[in-house]
Amino acid sequence: MFDKFHDECGVVAIYGHPEASNLAYLGLYALQHRGQESAGICSSDGRQIYCHKAMGHVADIFTPEVLGRLPGDHAIGHTRYSTAGDTVLLNAQPFSVACNKGRIAVAHNGNITNAGELRRELEREGSIFQASSDTEVILHLVARSRERTLAGALREALLQLEGAFSLVFLAEDRILVARDPHGFRPLAFGQMELSGDGICYVFASETCAFDLLNAVYLDDVEPGEMMIASAQGIERERYAPARESAHCVFEHVYFSRPDSIVFGRPVEESREMLGRLLAREQPVDADVVVPVPDSGVAAAIGYAAEAGLPFRQALIRNHYVGRTFIEPSQAIRDFGVKLKLNPVRHLLEGKRVVLVDDSIVRGTTSRKIVRMVRGAGAREVHLRISCPPTISPCFYGVDTPCVAELIAANNTVEEIRRFVEADSLGYLSLTGLREAVADHNHRYCYACYTGNYPTELVNIEDLMAAKDRRG
Ligand code: AMP
Repeated sequence: MFDKFHDECGVVAIYGHPEASNLAYLGLYALQHRGQESAGICSSDGRQIYCHKAMGHVADIFTPEVLGRLPGDHAIGHTRYSTAGDTVLLNAQPFSVACNKGRIAVAHNGNITNAGELRRELEREGSIFQASSDTEVILHLVARSRERTLAGALREALLQLEGAFSLVFLAEDRILVARDPHGFRPLAFGQMELSGDGICYVFASETCAFDLLNAVYLDDVEPGEMMIASAQGIERERYAPARESAHCVFEHVYFSRPDSIVFGRPVEESREMLGRLLAREQPVDADVVVPVPDSGVAAAIGYAAEAGLPFRQALIRNHYVGRTFIEPSQAIRDFGVKLKLNPVRHLLEGKRVVLVDDSIVRGTTSRKIVRMVRGAGAREVHLRISCPPTISPCFYGVDTPCVAELIAANNTVEEIRRFVEADSLGYLSLTGLREAVADHNHRYCYACYTGNYPTELVNIEDLMAAKDRRG
């Protein structure tokens, strides 16, 4: 049983650089949007593995002193996200253990859908778990394997896993990385030349991390592939047969940074196309297009360009929300969305506004934003959503709530429109979404919009219950 899904995380791995932990830190800094709850780095100097993890943001956790205690040429890092549930340091990653294959550490992005069964089986046979996360299961499987080499043990462990995983492992003298056979979550591979003649290999959830490091993006780790960076260079091996590809479309809709190339496609291109197609499918007679920042910005730019309407940033976001915030008692209660967003009255007053965002999940935030725009004087508010209605929970690593809380799972578009108090509401179609990400060969997962899960979910009750517990 798990209290927690491993949703929405960022991973990074560095092989062969004298400042590996500094580079891992920079990589995590670029991946901060993928997780703000906790972060960790493990490094190796060839003899020993050093770890530091803590709750909070990357830049606050990793001071020069802390990074100074993470020596060596190899490092992995992780940043983790959570909106609810346990925020226990025990669940922060990387996880590290000593076993008969030496000392190893692992960081994981995704969600292992059969982790419940695997864990119960391991516990029956005597394994002891420290945290409630599914990632620990992998370490136990590796440790128990009879294979003599770490790569062999890892291969054996990976073949027992189902669901979504982009994994980075650190051993004393090497980095191993792997991606699940469906390729749900991204994992990119790059390199940087060192002064002298060495080459440093880097892996990261998104290519925006490479840009900051000045590394060159070479390829994605392929679905079902394991890569090993060691003194021998890079080895690539397919550890599992090819399966139906199921890249998470939500990475392009919302989750990844627009300056990243994800699944081989620039995210910005998809986002703007989402907006253009939305304008074609859901036109409206209006005066101005306004994004919900930051999630709706690129789509709103596309919408405005396609519709020939002015684009205005009429909602201003405070970027520091989420940091320590002392809530004044009683007098000014219920800040809600006002903490995060403030309307620019003169841009909205008397206007017919197209408000663009990427998703409506529960509907509560969207309603507050519609009210805010109307409260600032908008004459009409037309909400446009750059993807289809979110009707099914994600079991592959995105933090969507259970069915009962997904407004579109239980209401018609007209009912949602009434709930969010918009004058009109329009979603992009599934066909439009497919076109926006250029998915001509059915390589993406759309389960959150269709309910068709690309893998068998044998323990769906367990998975649903875990979502319920998260609230
Ligand atoms: P609500 O109207 O309460 O459903 O909230 C919708 C807002 O949540 C939109 O601005 C989305 O960009 C944002 N959102 C959608 N999915 C997620 C997610 N998985 N994690 C965090 N925020 C999200």
